[in-house]
Amino acid sequence: MAFLVIVVSLIVVWIASLCKILHSGSSYSKNTFLSEVSGGAPNRRNVLLVIAHPDDESMFFSPTINYLISRGHNVYLLCLSIGNADGMGNTRKDELYQACLVLKVQPQQVKILDHPDLQDGFGLVWDRGLLSKTIKEEVSTHHIDTVITFDNYGVSGHCNHRDVHYGVRKLLEDASERRIEAWELVSNNMLRKYIGPVDIWLSMLLASKASSGVAYCLLNEQPLKSFSAMAAHSSQWVWFRKLFVSFSSYTYVNTLRRINC
Ligand SMILES: [Zn+2]
Repeated sequence: MAFLVIVVSLIVVWIASLCKILHSGSSYSKNTFLSEVSGGAPNRRNVLLVIAHPDDESMFFSPTINYLISRGHNVYLLCLSIGNADGMGNTRKDELYQACLVLKVQPQQVKILDHPDLQDGFGLVWDRGLLSKTIKEEVSTHHIDTVITFDNYGVSGHCNHRDVHYGVRKLLEDASERRIEAWELVSNNMLRKYIGPVDIWLSMLLASKASSGVAYCLLNEQPLKSFSAMAAHSSQWVWFRKLFVSFSSYTYVNTLRRINC
């Protein structure tokens, strides 16, 4: 009987959390992340999302991408490898373009690198100087004013994700790049990572307790779009990733924290 009560309670909380997300569109217009106004019009940013592998954008960052696109920001994507750990790099590269179409990121604003020193794989260290130089080129080409990437744990702990974070940090050490506003996706512990939409309550609470302007909680107003984007990665869309995307809190909410203040 107690087990039944727990299961029913979990289902109720899950549904209530989903309802909160799906009906958050109007209330989240109050979210002030990158929403400053200049001259009476919203200030549109040139935002560069820096990831390590094709599918990072759909699996981890889709709440952020949906938020930025829906508010008219100009989103660029830099993927630092083609994800060739299993020899499927060219397929995965094409899949990333398909996923970006779903997420409404323009194909001409997507850059996917296949550099010999930046190959997908555990135990392969990516040079921070090379990362910084590569990201800097993209920043100057597109007049980027905002960079978003992984934090120093990289959500899954993958070494390539972590290296990307330190590459961005290295870029920010460059005096000429201090004008850039940089944000990191906060990694959750194992429990919070797999409680799906239920995590929104904790994410909202923690973001509200942070100092003003340092952390923002972005609810995914279109979680189904995230599923469609991930499904565009056909070679990766196997049963355990379908489960991951369903139960992962990153499908429903992103907490972004300022790297440089
Ligand atoms: Zn990855």
